[in-house]
Amino acid sequence: MSLKKRSLKNAEAYISGIQTGDRVLLGQALTLVESKKKEHRDLANQILSGLSKDNNKSLRVGISGSPGVGKSTFIEAFGNYIIGQGKTLAVLAVDPSSSITKGSILGDKTRMQSLSIHPSAFIRPSPAAETLGGVTNTTHESILLCEAAGYDIILVETVGVGQSETMVHGLVDFFMLLLLPGAGDDLQGIKRGIVELADMIVVNKVDGDRIIMAKEIKRSYQNAIHLFGAKANLWETKVFLASALQNEGLENIWKELIAFDSELSNNGYKSINRIQQRKSIFEAMLKNRIWEKVLDSGNNLNNIKALQNAIQNNEISIYEAINKFTSGK
Ligand code: GDP
Repeated sequence: MSLKKRSLKNAEAYISGIQTGDRVLLGQALTLVESKKKEHRDLANQILSGLSKDNNKSLRVGISGSPGVGKSTFIEAFGNYIIGQGKTLAVLAVDPSSSITKGSILGDKTRMQSLSIHPSAFIRPSPAAETLGGVTNTTHESILLCEAAGYDIILVETVGVGQSETMVHGLVDFFMLLLLPGAGDDLQGIKRGIVELADMIVVNKVDGDRIIMAKEIKRSYQNAIHLFGAKANLWETKVFLASALQNEGLENIWKELIAFDSELSNNGYKSINRIQQRKSIFEAMLKNRIWEKVLDSGNNLNNIKALQNAIQNNEISIYEAINKFTSGK
């Protein structure tokens, strides 16, 4: 969504519009948050500052899995199920590959068609580029905007590339990993760290011929998970079988989400976790801002370039270069 100067409103108009469910203003505010222009960022910050503080009412759910595992089919099916439960849903995406391929997950309009036209759902394609490699990740702010608009469930989709899963894990309450049917041994082949992050494993595409093997699939994955230690939230990771294509297995997955939300709200972990996440996000944003400020000075930029040249020509070690820069000599 492009932002024309004359179509921009003041922060109060965005705040009240978002809180009364104006989807156009929500969409514009998300664009402001993603924008690199200073006047857009300033307005976005005013909007974010004016929103009511985190109240833990929503449930933030990360969904990850390799391309082709069925994420968009699953989100469409599960999203419709969630809406059927009388809840509202926002879907955001973190797509580290988009800056390379210039494509974007959720960007394809044919994806999640029935969900995208539903009044209880709001779908936001990933920003066109530089979500991860770029200066700042804005997904946290996007989550806050969607929550201010009153969405109950915020789904954050990511593909298993680079550090995107770890980053999304640091932004959500619950992290779901989609896998294909196969032996539990396959878990060894998947980046181990990702499996350790998962609060739930959904084996998708358990339909057709694979139904006969369903019990076996579940058992072998469950056994493999037992090799991993307890997570910080102490929630036991279980394996669920689903067919997004045939709307199978969604009810059990939903029940597990509800159980998680209720238990971790009651024992206080949800709130503690969000506080820790906020502290980490603050630190990451602060580092980015400080770095931007350093680069703002042409002098610093020239010094850094000179040091990079010296490193390239083997005239100086990395450590010497850092010492030189930080001591200002
Ligand atoms: P994504 O890349 O992870 O978003 O995967 P998609 O949702 O685009 O799905 C990739 C392919 O798998 C598509 O052809 C889907 O129709 C198919 N697919 C998705 N879910 C299922 C399922 O539950 N069963 C079967 N048999 N195919 C599925």
